[in-house]
Amino acid sequence: MSFEKLAGAVQRYHPSPDLKLIEDAYKFAEEQHSGQVRASGEAYFTHVFETALLTAELKLDVPSIAAALLHDTVEDCLVSHETLLGKFGPEITDIVEGVTKLTRIEFDSQEEKQAENFRKMLLAMAKDIRVVLVKLCDRLHNMRTLSHKPEDKRRRTAQETKDIYAPLANRLGIHWLKSELEDLCLLYLRPEIYELIRSKFDNTTKERDSYISETTQNLIHALEESGVSAAVKGRCKHFNSIWGKMERSNISFEEVHDVIGFRIIVPTLRACYEALGIIHSTYKPIPGKFKDYIAMPKPNMYQSLHTTVIGPGGQRMEVQIRTAEMNQVAEEGIAAHWRYKEGGGLPGFDLQWVRELVETQQYLKSPDEFIQSVKGELFPEEVFVFTPKGQLVRLSFGASPVDFAYAVHTDVGHRTTGAKVNNTLVPLDHRLRNGDTVEILTSKTHVPNKDWLRFVKSSKAKQRIRAFLKAEEHSRSLAIGIDILSKDLRKVKSSLKRVESSGKMLEIAQGLGLKTEGDLYAEIGYGKLSSTKVIAKLLPEGVDVEEKLQAKPTPLQRIFQRAAQVSRDKVGVKVSGFDDILVRFAKCCEPLPGDRIVGFITRGRGVTVHSGECPRALESDPLRLVDVFWDDDMHTTRKVRLLVYSQDQMGLLANMCKAMTDSGANIISAHAKTSELGRAENTFDISVNDVRHYERVKRSIEMVPGVIKVERLGSGGTTDDDGAVDPPEKKRAPKTGHVRLK
Ligand code: MN
Repeated sequence: MSFEKLAGAVQRYHPSPDLKLIEDAYKFAEEQHSGQVRASGEAYFTHVFETALLTAELKLDVPSIAAALLHDTVEDCLVSHETLLGKFGPEITDIVEGVTKLTRIEFDSQEEKQAENFRKMLLAMAKDIRVVLVKLCDRLHNMRTLSHKPEDKRRRTAQETKDIYAPLANRLGIHWLKSELEDLCLLYLRPEIYELIRSKFDNTTKERDSYISETTQNLIHALEESGVSAAVKGRCKHFNSIWGKMERSNISFEEVHDVIGFRIIVPTLRACYEALGIIHSTYKPIPGKFKDYIAMPKPNMYQSLHTTVIGPGGQRMEVQIRTAEMNQVAEEGIAAHWRYKEGGGLPGFDLQWVRELVETQQYLKSPDEFIQSVKGELFPEEVFVFTPKGQLVRLSFGASPVDFAYAVHTDVGHRTTGAKVNNTLVPLDHRLRNGDTVEILTSKTHVPNKDWLRFVKSSKAKQRIRAFLKAEEHSRSLAIGIDILSKDLRKVKSSLKRVESSGKMLEIAQGLGLKTEGDLYAEIGYGKLSSTKVIAKLLPEGVDVEEKLQAKPTPLQRIFQRAAQVSRDKVGVKVSGFDDILVRFAKCCEPLPGDRIVGFITRGRGVTVHSGECPRALESDPLRLVDVFWDDDMHTTRKVRLLVYSQDQMGLLANMCKAMTDSGANIISAHAKTSELGRAENTFDISVNDVRHYERVKRSIEMVPGVIKVERLGSGGTTDDDGAVDPPEKKRAPKTGHVRLK
């Protein structure tokens, strides 16, 4: 450990480094960390020194080297922002503080925090990628020295490295760093596996070495015979990728055939394809294994030809063919580009995905969605397709024509009506494959469909569709709200225009914690707020608004309102976009959890839920339709009414009751009626958990000898609604159902 060693490492690639600056940082860090000791017993300064050497290995610029030396001074020595700024200037200070922020991030915390931390990391990357590169060097050195840490710390750090930093290194194309991180993760997370592979390797060193040198000679010979000069290198796969193969294909170490791979470096791009032809005519290629990453580079800029052939001794071997420049990018990724553009930022390296994620994240409300989209970017599994003009479009694996349309342009996405893949019409949920040519059919009047959300894969498409639907839903609610409020205001001899221009409406809105009058109308339209409540604030105190509006609820409605209030947390139905809206079940149909359901916004009384097949629901105003779905986390029971046709025979009722209780249903009431011809019609109100439970109960009743047929009828209310709603005696129209706007 010496300054000269570091200076030498930098000078090896940098023509004229500012060594004084590096030396200043070196001395300052050494002084600041003096007396601090690492878990290994070494001086703390060794850590920052090694980190700086790694940044030199990545061939980073001088400010990055200095920042690497200083990267722990803020966190561990409490050096102030002003001190750093005064001594080293804003550029280095920014990198050091960026690294400090990343160090403080814990990625293993709960979802929301994790999403926030991903955001921070992406913002740091978008701002200055050097922050992340220095952090990767810091992490690599910490991983190399992890054995000195206690067991739980080892696991945590290794897991975080596996989840975040190794994929990040991969995404940035720094292959050697990624492989080493992954192998170290394997060592600490699955020590028994690591040990197994290591011992197998040690036992076969001799054979392997002779196989490699023999095959290398054969390859060089075959290439030279055809006039292609090439450098050939044989190498073993990394432990982690061997383990990956064993795990994926569920095979033993001995069954992993292409443990050894060969890399052929040729002078020109043309020679890559020539070399490929020679290899394929010398050894039998395995179909489906050829990949052309030269014509279609990986997102991290990696270029190479890959093929797998049957090599000497019948062994499969993977061969990679590339030029020296491609090899440099393959090994160093973003860092290789860095060198050519010293001081000039990072043109040439595609960080578009980082910018897109940063841009996208502001639309994504749920942390889960955001994490998924970040992970999607970090673990790219992609397909490449073409526009009719031959432009390459990169999409995530499993993408549909709709994803493609949104990738081209948001407006194209919104207006998609159909798609042609390789000149054949396909459904919109068709899965695109590599090399497809995709043409999108659009119509100016077409709008996104919420069904698209079922199959789109890219976060851009999802996010744009949701934003559109949300805006649409909002404007619909706004119109409904304005309509309701205008009519009710007319009843009290006022008008919306008048109240609005007096400024009173804004006042009321703000009094309710809303920003604008529009928000207030939308709340009314959604059914979250009643117009009665708003109008009450406009009238003098003591005036009975409900009487004025002639909308006084009947006593039964009052009871129902209360019941709904009480039970709304226990209904077990969620309304798209809201978690605090009143929900109740219509009485005309009897949806059970698992049934398809639809919701309608009622006037000031939340949302009424119908079964998807209910004729009343189909008649209702489609303007008031909202998305509702069963809340899987809620475990409520629902009443269901059964009509059982059976023989009229002794003991049958008891047997049926036993069948029901045996299959876990609660019998609320039972009623039997005999009819002609020795038949009986038995009506039961029972409570069940969901559709599947109901089906089980039904089957068990059908098994009872003497039972002819079981039918499901209506009953009413949730069973835990504290009795405020009496079970209806017969089917009847909903008392407080959806009200049509006239
Ligand atoms: Mn550190």
